[in-house]
Amino acid sequence: MSDTTTSSTTTRDTVILGSGCSGLTAAIYAARANLKPLVLEGHEPGGQLSITTLVENFPGWPQGVQGPELIDNMKQQAVRFGAELKMAHLVSADLSKHPYELNLGTGTEPIRTRTLIIASGASARWLNLPSEQALIGHGVSSCATCDGFFASGKEIAVVGGGDSAMEEALFLTRFASKVTVINRTDHFRASHIMMERAVAHPNITLLSSKVVVEVLGVEEKDVRGVVLRDTKTDKLSTLPVSFLFLGIGHTPNARMFAGQLDLDPDGYILTHGNVFPTHNGKEVPGVFACGDIQDRRYRQAITAAGTGCMAALEVEKFLEEHGR
Ligand SMILES: Cc1cc2nc3c(=O)[nH]c(=O)nc-3n(C[C@H](O)[C@H](O)[C@H](O)COP(=O)(O)OP(=O)(O)OC[C@H]3O[C@@H](n4cnc5c(N)ncnc54)[C@H](O)[C@@H]3O)c2cc1C
Repeated sequence: MSDTTTSSTTTRDTVILGSGCSGLTAAIYAARANLKPLVLEGHEPGGQLSITTLVENFPGWPQGVQGPELIDNMKQQAVRFGAELKMAHLVSADLSKHPYELNLGTGTEPIRTRTLIIASGASARWLNLPSEQALIGHGVSSCATCDGFFASGKEIAVVGGGDSAMEEALFLTRFASKVTVINRTDHFRASHIMMERAVAHPNITLLSSKVVVEVLGVEEKDVRGVVLRDTKTDKLSTLPVSFLFLGIGHTPNARMFAGQLDLDPDGYILTHGNVFPTHNGKEVPGVFACGDIQDRRYRQAITAAGTGCMAALEVEKFLEEHGR
């Protein structure tokens, strides 16, 4: 592969898209390999962990660590070895010519780069109620695997009617004393088998035609219930719960690569060997993807960090093989 520009000052060796735990881990490895990576932080600097509170399952922190502290440490570690962090959001990318061009949509020149690590994550879908947003990390969560343990012995609610909601509800019965699933219509979209399991479970109650209009507990900084509106009668009611999980899915941040990389039907980047994206089934040289943007199965900080490491090592290998 030959570069279409001769200017090495304006062409980066690597740019990392995203500053969550996958992007920052990639940045630590790339910086230690002296590649001076540029990290575009995006609209959510620090990624999903920056909006959570206690993380108890990241190895090396026996007492747990606050999500923002973990992210801040990763940033410091990356910067210490020469990573450059930039508050910028990628608007579009041109992967049809090499070096690749990244457009930040700010009237500035596009950034040129020989390699690209896409670590742009998948954003959890929220109801976007002010009370819900205020209580994220204080009894409101979108990650049952991460926060189920904190619901031990509590009566809780799960919002959603699809497979992710049923999966979360069933998983949460390991901890919670009672799980109420709240669905906005009277039709549950979950598969037959998931519905059967949920209906048969003695600790799960299914509520249909109800929407959450408020989460109670903002003043106390601890969820103490939800206000529900019946979508047929408009009648309001209160459900006392101590934890609310959102099970309404995630939106992968990969729209800017549509038509240039193979995406699955929900918009996640398809990869083989964990970090190699394709276009029409063929590898795209020098482009790697890591973390939640290519992983809809595990979605954990440690797996995101693991694939971030893999992507950075592949960047090193790629640049070496292409004479850098
Ligand atoms: C409430 C909550 C609690 C959680 N708790 C835990 C836990 O206890 N343990 C655990 O292991 N996991 C937990 N997780 C899951 C964990 O946070 C994710 O698996 C992890 O953050 C994924 O990292 P990532 O780097 O792939 O993506 P993200 O963290 O989603 O980061 C994506 C990054 O990409 C950037 N970006 C997006 N689009 C663009 C663009 N166009 N241009 C530039 N940048 C862009 C964003 O700004 C962001 O910085 C939790 C998640 C949530 C939501």
